Amino acid sequence: MRIVYNRIIPFGPRFLAINLFGIIFAKGECDSVTINHEMIHTDQMKELCYVFFYLLYVIEWAARFVIYRDYMKAYRRISFETEAYAHQDDMNYIKDRKHFAFLRYIRIKK
Ligand SMILES: [Zn+2]
Repeated sequence: MRIVYNRIIPFGPRFLAINLFGIIFAKGECDSVTINHEMIHTDQMKELCYVFFYLLYVIEWAARFVIYRDYMKAYRRISFETEAYAHQDDMNYIKDRKHFAFLRYIRIKK
């Protein structure tokens, strides 16, 4: 996985790294957990031909923002993020991961 270290992307102080089309842009050193998190996103992107991943990501974030009225809570509850955060510590998850596993995390919870 390619990592581009820079001072600008991702925008905002709360985020250390972002995965854009399989390339990680990071403002600081990425540990193995962060890299694993982003690798899970790369798998999700590939399943959705990249474009549909970003489209669904934005739609799901917007829908959850309407529900929760909190942009960070909406972000953390996006099914793609919920799956990645749930398994980022499991370094074997990628090789055992079922296709479209993020669908299991779509449910709405308070
Ligand atoms: Zn993520």
